[in-house]
Amino acid sequence: MSLLEIKKRIKIAEAKSGRSDGSTKLIAVSKVQPNERVQMILEQGHHIYGENRVQEATAKWPAFREQFDGIELHIIGPLQTNKARAAMELAQAIHTLDRIKLAHTFARLAQEMGACPDIYIQVNTGAEPQKAGVLPANADAFITEAVSLDLPVAGLMCIPPANEDPSRHFKMLNNIASRNGVNGLSMGMSGDFETAIANGATHVRVGSAIFGGRVPT
Ligand SMILES: *Cc1c(COP(=O)(O)O)cnc(C)c1O
Repeated sequence: MSLLEIKKRIKIAEAKSGRSDGSTKLIAVSKVQPNERVQMILEQGHHIYGENRVQEATAKWPAFREQFDGIELHIIGPLQTNKARAAMELAQAIHTLDRIKLAHTFARLAQEMGACPDIYIQVNTGAEPQKAGVLPANADAFITEAVSLDLPVAGLMCIPPANEDPSRHFKMLNNIASRNGVNGLSMGMSGDFETAIANGATHVRVGSAIFGGRVPT
């Protein structure tokens, strides 16, 4: 598939669910992809990218930023507290706030740095033990606490369980966001971004459908 094809499918999904053209942002997930493939997408003018690991992102993106203007980076993988500063210095958004300790670290560093990327709270909608994220039952309280720390809470994020219909999870995330007055919804990947758009996604995170399969590490 190509970037153009994915953009076309996003447009169609927006139209089908009565959403306005361009209301969904496409995050091109470039983790583990060879630099040549990323370069190709950059040359096609795409400027929003997602990375899982801070270390990989720090190694990769400063050089691209010297070459291309206006790159917006989103950290979408689990974040260790000791990588918070590096993530905040590098990225415009972090999608994986999932614990109070990390919220306090963000708040302290934001004070120090005088700036903070957009923060998304990850919700473990399937309550899967191996998956990061706040449990749905704790989400309201967690959002309230993050907001009270003055964090710029831009949205919620989820990764539905692999073998379930994702709609239920996307709807759940949308409900939690609505009742807490949160606007952003980071949901939908290569296999289900159209379903996510139908359920209100503001940001879809698409990797392999744009770049091709990831080389196993
Ligand atoms: C890898 C990854 C994606 C992209 O997955 P694809 O199936 O390749 O589109 C999206 N979100 C997160 C959190 C990821 O780790």
